Amino acid sequence: MNCALCQKYLEAWLAGTLPDHLKIQVEDHLSVCPQCRKTADVLKISETLIAGEKETEPNPFLATRIMAAIEANESRIELSKPGFVRLLRPAVIALSMATAVFAGIALGRLSGSSSAINEIPMELVLINDAQMEAIGPLSNE
Ligand SMILES: [Zn+2]
Repeated sequence: MNCALCQKYLEAWLAGTLPDHLKIQVEDHLSVCPQCRKTADVLKISETLIAGEKETEPNPFLATRIMAAIEANESRIELSKPGFVRLLRPAVIALSMATAVFAGIALGRLSGSSSAINEIPMELVLINDAQMEAIGPLSNE
């Protein structure tokens, strides 16, 4: 048996699923080849580690502990800020909103012609409430 063939069968040999004639050949090769023996050792260790990982049960309090740590971290950050920064935040938000509103108005004025705003359309002039006939007398009939 050569090294490539031996390493191909190593996993099955470790799992104990190799047929007897192949098992003997692999063990014979391992007894003479330090390279493959080393590979087998590494494989054995990694499989032991993986098996240990699989057996690890999730800690039921892990989520609680993580959330507590996050909250502690957040409150620490909040406390580390100077007081005026905390007071300033709403003011900055209000200021930026006001700026956005005024920018919107300015953009609206830029896009439409400014004279059109001051002119009243003919349709609106014709629909003048003051000149309209009262509907009250008609409803009494
Ligand atoms: Zn070998």
